[in-house]
Amino acid sequence: MIPDSYLVAVDAPMPEPLTYLPPENGEAVQRGQSVMVPLGKRQVHGVVMREGKSENRGEYKLKSIVGPSPERPALPAPYVDWLEWMANYYLYPIGPVVETMFPPLPRDSKRATRKSPVVKEGLVQSVAPPLTQEQLDALKGIEAKKDFHVHMLFGVTGSGKTEVYLNLLHDVLARGKQALVLVPEIALTPQLIDRFSRRFPNMVAVLHSHLTPREKTNQWWGAVTQEKQILIGARSALFCPMANLGLIILDEEHEPSYKQDEKLKYHARDSAIVLASKLNIPIVLGSATPSLETWNNVLTGKFQLHTLAQRVNARPLPEIQVVDLREVQSKRKDEPSKLPFWLSDQLYKELQIVFAKKEQAALFLNRRGVAQTAQCKQCGFSCECPNCSVTLTVHGKSHLVCHYCDYTERLPEICTNCKEGPMEPMGLGTEKLEQDMAALFPELRIVRADRDEVQSREQMEDLIESIEKEEVDLLIGTQMIAKGLDFPKLNLVGLVLADVGFNWPDFRASERSFQLLTQVSGRSGRQSAGKVVIQTYNPDHPSIQYTVRADFKEFCELELTERREMNYPPLWRMASFRIQGADVDSTKKAAQRLVQRAHALQEQNPVYTKDLEVLGPAKAPLFKLRNKFRYQVLIKCDSAQRLNRFCRHILSSNDWIPSGTKVQVDIDPFQML
Ligand code: ADP
Ligand code: ZN
Repeated sequence: MIPDSYLVAVDAPMPEPLTYLPPENGEAVQRGQSVMVPLGKRQVHGVVMREGKSENRGEYKLKSIVGPSPERPALPAPYVDWLEWMANYYLYPIGPVVETMFPPLPRDSKRATRKSPVVKEGLVQSVAPPLTQEQLDALKGIEAKKDFHVHMLFGVTGSGKTEVYLNLLHDVLARGKQALVLVPEIALTPQLIDRFSRRFPNMVAVLHSHLTPREKTNQWWGAVTQEKQILIGARSALFCPMANLGLIILDEEHEPSYKQDEKLKYHARDSAIVLASKLNIPIVLGSATPSLETWNNVLTGKFQLHTLAQRVNARPLPEIQVVDLREVQSKRKDEPSKLPFWLSDQLYKELQIVFAKKEQAALFLNRRGVAQTAQCKQCGFSCECPNCSVTLTVHGKSHLVCHYCDYTERLPEICTNCKEGPMEPMGLGTEKLEQDMAALFPELRIVRADRDEVQSREQMEDLIESIEKEEVDLLIGTQMIAKGLDFPKLNLVGLVLADVGFNWPDFRASERSFQLLTQVSGRSGRQSAGKVVIQTYNPDHPSIQYTVRADFKEFCELELTERREMNYPPLWRMASFRIQGADVDSTKKAAQRLVQRAHALQEQNPVYTKDLEVLGPAKAPLFKLRNKFRYQVLIKCDSAQRLNRFCRHILSSNDWIPSGTKVQVDIDPFQML
């Protein structure tokens, strides 16, 4: 029997699905089916979520579904379950969540000609090396289960995790299934894609944000029609409906780029785990520095741990030397040095050794530009962005740039505040490193990898190729170069100022620093003994101490103890409300009202009083961004479910929000700025 109505998620910002009558021709429609429906005067895409209940129809005169969408496939039922979970958990309207499942353009048979193909084919096909005992054990452990299980592949950098993934894929394909491989910011890791397409020629599709809409659409169809068996992608590749999926792999699971910070603020790791459970398939997380969320799940037995403790062929981990910059500076007060202020004698010596041996080195600094800011020598004034509450960064000879909104102006010669003092660049950036190194080693071939220099996939590919071909002696970069790059001749990594980040106003600051230091260090000595020099003002900081000892487990123990005391994730859950608007007073009022609402709800519902904390309102650390004022309210709770209900309750009406003010919720927030 045909139901008398259906709930359809439509391509419009409605919080709930809309009710429609069956198509007039009397055809039945299925859950997950893509349909066309009338909306106002338009016809829009929609997906049938479930059968409607006639008692919920209200007084409206319902319209009929027009019919199946001619250009969109149906979504498999587990994906529909998953989309409902996403909308529910992240408190986001179902329509836009469902719409994310489809490619940007209609399907098109003609293939665009392009300079550089999305996946390079025709590379020499590679042969799998025999696995080490640790790799074999991990492989066997993971393959023992064919249904839903979360596996954590914990392996130091260069321990052969990727080789384990390749073997897992081989077996999944042999069972006639497809696989999804998620990596952070894939546009930046072309080496990895090449490695996969070399092992599996003509079987790989790729999805990430640096593709054109046409490329995305073609890759999407390749995976959906099963013309391609493997989809490698950034977080958004999760939204490609693969009917025959047998395995999900999520590499570098600790990476913050898995969290989307705008619109649907989902975390790709958590969402992938839920998708795997709906599909009842295994999922493998990989990392050398797992997130505390994941590690906590390992400790409580929710995730199954597989460890690769050794680098392949027993290559040693790099030798790490810590240089105390306080000592360097006090020494130089007595004996001035010819070296730039940021370069210690120790690091300079190691650089000389590496360059003399014709090997490669990398210098890492998590800050772009020439100088962090320019300051008046007379009155101490520094140039601020007119749109954001941050100081402007010096670029080139005389450019000031805002790293948040890209505002630029010329560096004034005389201070605009006291009209007397000269403006002097302060602090350090990657551009300055490059200038100083070129002056110090005039013969050196230097490339810089930061967001100013590398903006496209092609540029990153060219850069990697030039390092692989040894046309480069020194690589200077930001965290961009921390991710999964593998260069055999790179035997020295210098962390110019490891402290950047220690003081972020974020409860994850230590964890992030530890991860970054470990990952960057891991770029050194992939083929032979490598060295790392860490320069810091805080040599005793736990992030540095545990990086040097390569003691992940102890670092976690310490960090978890601190989080437990503060009721921070992963022990408790967190949601953050961001309140923003162009008018500072009404924005503040909205933030205050939100907290009042929260407290009132707690008084009415005792269930919200125990183990639930409301913090704020407080100015966001970045108080003004792109001319919007920003407040935040944090909510911590020991249960994800109660936290979800509480936030939903707060947002259940919006008559308390002053006009011109926006209130957004972020469940499991990462970005605390
Ligand atoms: P990870 O992903 O843990 O950083 P990779 O899988 O990239 O490690 O392995 C590091 C290096 O060792 C790569 O160059 C890879 O080709 C090589 N490798 C991995 N497994 C083996 C093996 N079993 N035998 C020989 N070489 C291997
Ligand atoms: Zn700005």
